[in-house]
Amino acid sequence: MPSSRPIIDLSGKIGLVLGIANEHSIATGCARRFADAGAHLVATYLDDKARPFVEPVARALPCDLLLPCDVRVDGALDAVFTAIRDRYGRLNFLLHAMAFAPREDLHARVTDCSAAGFALAMDVSCHSFIRCARLAEPLMAQGGALLSVSFYGAERVVEHYNLMGPVKAALESSVRYLAAELGPRHIRVNAVSPGPIATRAASGIDRFDELLERAALDAPEHQRVTIEDVGALAAFLASDAGARITGSIIPVDGGQHIMA
Ligand code: NAD
Repeated sequence: MPSSRPIIDLSGKIGLVLGIANEHSIATGCARRFADAGAHLVATYLDDKARPFVEPVARALPCDLLLPCDVRVDGALDAVFTAIRDRYGRLNFLLHAMAFAPREDLHARVTDCSAAGFALAMDVSCHSFIRCARLAEPLMAQGGALLSVSFYGAERVVEHYNLMGPVKAALESSVRYLAAELGPRHIRVNAVSPGPIATRAASGIDRFDELLERAALDAPEHQRVTIEDVGALAAFLASDAGARITGSIIPVDGGQHIMA
């Protein structure tokens, strides 16, 4: 008898979504798919300035808890996980969809980027994922799924991506090490790697419009990736349908990565 249950079923699961800035965020596309699949969601916003943009998105999901979290602030991430522990006593999956680099360093050659800018970009965009893994581990006694978001610029030189290339390379390597370390606890760790999408973070990349145009020209179907496309993959990986998939960086770029 064929099962009548949908393949992506997150009902009864608790998910944490870090990285919603507004309705265009990749985290928003993912959170919508998580909610559609039946998950209970906790989301975060960066600060009071960001809150009015995140609140309507969170309300529409819906989401159980909306908490502040600037990962640069000592104890901010810990407070999020404490709130989850107090409310649910567990966590099933999380999405880390955040990145930051100081503008001056992002626009410089990698050769010229400052030590301070590089360290800050690494801390917010990569080490915060490692901290998430450490804090999630005790809440994932029954196993779980950790997801982050990378970009092709980690693997190959993409013009104007600059220091985010080495930062995403470190993120991708962290995914593999975390997957190996947490595998025995049945915690799967993966990253999705979307093609270019017009978001607030992306607007900080010099000549991002050209990247968007190239993506549509190069991709075999000549279509750009949407946040919904990324969300579908993220929901699959967060669900039990993604069992046995761990330590992977999975492109969702319309096949752009296969083209020379
Ligand atoms: P976005 O601007 O919508 O999201 C970036 C998020 O990072 C924001 O919510 C912001 O608040 C958060 N953030 C930045 N500094 C933070 C801090 N100190 N503490 C907590 N949160 C912080 O842009 P997006 O494109 O949706 O970015 C999400 C992820 O997707 C990033 O990791 C980005 O590198 C990655 N990505 C984006 C693209 C693209 O083309 N847009 C492609 C591949 C990967």
